[in-house]
Amino acid sequence: MLSSGSSISVAFGVASLAAAGTLAYATLSAQSQVFGRTLQAPPLPNQLALTFDDGPNPAATPRLLNILARRNVRATFFLIGDFVRLEPALTRQIAAAGHAIGNHTMTHPFLPRCSAARIRAELTGCSDILEATLGRRVTLFRPPHGALRPVVLRTARELGLETVQWNLIVGDWKPSVTTDGLLHTLEKGIAANRAAKRGTNVVLHDGGQASLGQPRLKTVEAVEMLLDRLAPDTVFVTPSAGGWG
Ligand SMILES: [Zn+2]
Repeated sequence: MLSSGSSISVAFGVASLAAAGTLAYATLSAQSQVFGRTLQAPPLPNQLALTFDDGPNPAATPRLLNILARRNVRATFFLIGDFVRLEPALTRQIAAAGHAIGNHTMTHPFLPRCSAARIRAELTGCSDILEATLGRRVTLFRPPHGALRPVVLRTARELGLETVQWNLIVGDWKPSVTTDGLLHTLEKGIAANRAAKRGTNVVLHDGGQASLGQPRLKTVEAVEMLLDRLAPDTVFVTPSAGGWG
């Protein structure tokens, strides 16, 4: 990593501090690749992956599905197993509309603080309830809060799950957000990624981990406005084991 040998002894002390910092960062950052490969964002600047976490949510998901269907947009939904169990028909409706579906654990814990056995149970439980509901195994996984540890990634791989993070997060779950504010943050983030010559994979929330029925209509309305204002060359993509398509 050192490009010159000029200050190696000094750099050593700095490097160990930096390594500790990197590790803390890697635990929480959705952009970090320190613990292994995850899917972050599609490669082409005009590609956009809309991803929705913490559903299914009867208070927001049906309206979101209508908005996406009217514009023929395919998105990705990372579902919480406990909510899938309560909302099997809505889960099937998401799949029937052609959207990609992923595992977002059974109960949405902070996985870096969980035992290896609990991590496995959370991932297996969600994959199993999705399979029982949809009749097929899912292959995508998003860790709650984007929080990883090597054992989380390893467990996901062993269960045939590709881990998907994001490169744009807009805080849409915060009670203080407004629809206009969300729209502005979304457009700014997508424009910044375009300027940096990469696509956007944005994490949004049609549900909330606390319970079914969380208010997420500001997110839904912001997405509707965004879809009507996006550049005409925008291509919607979803993640898969092979990348984006
Ligand atoms: Zn979540």
